Formats: sequence, C-alpha cells, structure tokens
Amino acid sequence: MSSLDRYATDKLAQLDARQLRRRLVATSRSAGGIAERDGRRLISFACNDYLNLSTDPAVKAAAIAAVERFGAGAGASRLVTGNYPLLDQLEGRLAALKGTAAACVFGSGYLANMGLIPCFAGADDLILVDELAHACIHAGAALSAGTVIRFRHNDLTHLEALLHKHRAGHPNCLVVTDGVFSMDGDLAPVVPMGDLCAGHDAWLMTDDAHGIGVLAAGRGSTYAGATPARVPLQMGTLSKAIGSYGGYLCASQPVIDLVKTRARTLIYSTGLPPAAAGAALAALDIIEQDPARVARPVALARQFTDRLGLAPAASPIVPIILGEAGLALAASAQLAAENYLVTAIRPPTVPQGTARLRFAFTAAHHPDDVAAVAAFLAQRIL
Ligand SMILES: *Cc1c(COP(=O)(O)O)cnc(C)c1O
Repeated sequence: MSSLDRYATDKLAQLDARQLRRRLVATSRSAGGIAERDGRRLISFACNDYLNLSTDPAVKAAAIAAVERFGAGAGASRLVTGNYPLLDQLEGRLAALKGTAAACVFGSGYLANMGLIPCFAGADDLILVDELAHACIHAGAALSAGTVIRFRHNDLTHLEALLHKHRAGHPNCLVVTDGVFSMDGDLAPVVPMGDLCAGHDAWLMTDDAHGIGVLAAGRGSTYAGATPARVPLQMGTLSKAIGSYGGYLCASQPVIDLVKTRARTLIYSTGLPPAAAGAALAALDIIEQDPARVARPVALARQFTDRLGLAPAASPIVPIILGEAGLALAASAQLAAENYLVTAIRPPTVPQGTARLRFAFTAAHHPDDVAAVAAFLAQRIL
C-alpha cells in the first residue's frame, strides 16, 4: 500500500472507531418533500429547501429558460465574461428584498464568506465570531490576517466585554454571526447586537442562510424583530429556501463596489451558472407573491415543538439533542425504518456530546405527518 493510501486508510479507521465517519447516500428528491433512497420513499425532514422551490414547476422552467438563453455555464469569472445580465437583475431583487442599496452574488454561500471576511478585516483588524457560527464563517475568518476571537453563543454581555477590551487596539472590527443558527434553529439577537456594534464602531455581518425566504415575510432575520436590526452586511445563500444555488451579500453601494473588486472568491472563481440565477429570480417572485407559503415552515416547526413541550421554534429548524454520536445515528435509523428521513448531526459539525437529530420543516409537510413524527419521537426515542 502506498503511504498516501495508508494515510487515508488510517484516518478512516480512526473516524470509524469514533462513529464520526460520513458517507454519501444517493438520494432523489421530488416535489412534496419526498426523498427516495434505496428504492424507498421517505418523508424528508432533512432538506433546507424550506419552501420546496427547488422542485417548483415555475422555478424549474425559469432555470431551463436561463440555460437556453445564456448556456449551461458562465464561461469565466464575472470580472471577465461571466457577468451575464441575469446576475444584475438578481442583485437588484436581493437588494430590494433586504432593503439595501446594492448586492453581490457569489458562486455559493461558502465562497461568499471565504471571500467577504478577508475583504473587511486585514492584518491589524479584529474579528469577533459567535462560537456556533457556520463552518464557512470560521474558515473565512481564518483566511483573514486579522485577530479572531470567538464570543459565547448569542452572549451580548461577552461580546460587549470583548469590544471593551479589544476594540480600541484595532483600526477596524468585524462582528460575524449566523442570523439563524443552522444546527440549533435559534436566532441571533440582531437588534441589540446591531446597536451594540454601532456603539463601538464595529461592523456587524449576519449570515442569513436559514432566514431569507422564511422569516419576516421572506426578508430574513434583520426584519424579524420589532424594529429592523442595524446590519450593514447581510450575507446569505440562494441554496436553501430560495431552492437554487449561490451566495450573496446585500450592503451599501461603496461596500458592494469594494467587494466586486477585492473578494478573491468572486475574482478567481467562475460566475454562478445561469440556471441557478434564473431559478433564484423565479423563486424570489414566489416568495414575494405567496406570504402563506413563506409562513408555513415556521408554523409547522411550532406545531412540532408544541406537541413535544419544547420551547417554541423560532425558525424551521428544530434540534433534538441526544448526546453521543451513536445515539443520534440509532435514532435516525429508527426514524428511517418508519419512512422518516431525519439527519443525525455529529461533531465536529456540532460540539462534542451534543450529537442530535436535526428536523427541518418545509411548506409541503402535512400537519398530520408532523404530528405523527412528533408522536413517534415522544413514544420511542425521547
Ligand atoms: C449552508 C450554509 C452556508 C453555505 O451556503 P452554500 O450556499 O450551501 O455554500 C453558509 N452559512 C450557513 C449559516 C449555512 O447554513
């Protein structure tokens, strides 16, 4: 065996021993929140396609039309020839939804964070990141030469203490958090956090991957409170409730102009495929025209948390924390045997000892199915 293959084999054996190895499973998703695996049809509580727009006929037709008009790929970086006209339209629509002057679309949400964070924080600057923020926020912060400090999850007191202690020692300070936390489903306290950041001349960036399309009539976490939060950098993805693929930043005109000339994952990566932009535009039409559909995922998540006596869901995501990785895997297998697809989430995606089932509710779930899966959970797993 070559040293490379031995390296891979040893790593895999270590992961297997800790029940932390991951495997890809072929899955076909279809309309109505159904996922087929190994010839079995499962009701999926595992997709981030909260409005089922990835399989919506109008969204699919828009993707096909975009391919017919602009091709299967963008052909080059947006700064070369990859900036086909749909991208400009899409940026205008996103900026309008988010209430900003401008927007910039990236190839994915992950690419957006990897490119954006180094744009706003250089070697002398300070980056404060919620400890439970998404992996790509931590990755983007690590790519910047700035000083990175994690603050305790949603802890404004800790964030304020860090600002008091460290802010003055740096020319600029970026504070980054998920708007909706992807593995916990809770919301960041963006209204007071925005005020706190403004008071310390720190720039707040939220990642609203799980907020756009499902909170505040689709406008996302910035607008979910009593007053709009002061968030100068609203980042997110087109890959979840929007049902397509791609990432974005909504911000002021000068900030977006800077990003378009400085973000390395925009400059050195090919533009988003036309199908993705066409689909996203059609999805935004539906989100603006169908508020009842937009409200359903959170309403169904609340039905689920009410039935189980949990704190009311704040988003379409509800974690059921079980502890060790093996417990989460066994519970997921039990649910699969009943034709429910619910993902077991293990470290390092979540902290040690907090392996969990992650339920994600979509507009297409039937209230009876939500009641049935909650009853099964109450009787057989919890
Ligand atoms: C999914 C996710 C991303 C990554 O977005 P992609 O478009 O899938 O690359 C970024 N941030 C958060 C919080 C996410 O949940």
